[in-house]
Amino acid sequence: MNIVAENLASLREKIRKACAEAGRNPDDVRLVAVSKTKPASLIRQAVEAGQFDIGESYVQEFVEKHESGELSSLPVRWHFIGHLQTNKVKHIVDKVCMVHSIDSLKSAEELSKRAARLKLTVDYLLEVNTSGEATKFGISPDDLLASAPSFFHLQGIRLRGLMTIAAPDRERARREFRTLARLLVELRKTAPEPGLLTELSMGMSQDFDLAIEEGATMIRIGTAIFGSR
Ligand SMILES: *Cc1c(COP(=O)(O)O)cnc(C)c1O
Repeated sequence: MNIVAENLASLREKIRKACAEAGRNPDDVRLVAVSKTKPASLIRQAVEAGQFDIGESYVQEFVEKHESGELSSLPVRWHFIGHLQTNKVKHIVDKVCMVHSIDSLKSAEELSKRAARLKLTVDYLLEVNTSGEATKFGISPDDLLASAPSFFHLQGIRLRGLMTIAAPDRERARREFRTLARLLVELRKTAPEPGLLTELSMGMSQDFDLAIEEGATMIRIGTAIFGSR
């Protein structure tokens, strides 16, 4: 077995354990393997080990990998998880199964316009800056509920939930995951189609166990699968 397949096997075991401890069904937690800065050959190893959800953070790198001969024939579900500039939306709109990182009405409107033009329906999440760190992108928790109604009726895109990148400190991270879960409950109360709002994308290599306890439905893991960057 190659190292990526080994890492995936041991990670899946840890996810199963975390789910068991939290009283959750592992089928309700989707693993997104984050491959930024890593070569297509390693992504291929992950896909061959049954890992079809792959996350990328940088538009140009994502497009290159998406088109690479090593991957183009494989049934990869691509997730875009990095900051998305409005002028780059057109490069990814027809390549992603989900955008996790919409952080402004402007980028949602651009995604909507591009998706509608291609007659696509693109699922997306709103990124929330739960840590309040100035270096992080995302809508502030205080603004989320007030601004949400502007997102609900955009054509071509479907809001499916919320995403966050937590602070490194584990106790803080747990509080932030709770905040995100609470915001999703509140958001559902005001949504025209609350049944669509099912996703909490939270938890990375260092804190996915906490995120699972706090209700994550998608965890985004890079280092524990592909090694350090
Ligand atoms: C890089 C990245 C991850 C993965 O982080 P690891 O600590 O390597 O697991 C998850 N989410 C986002 C948004 C990232 O940019």
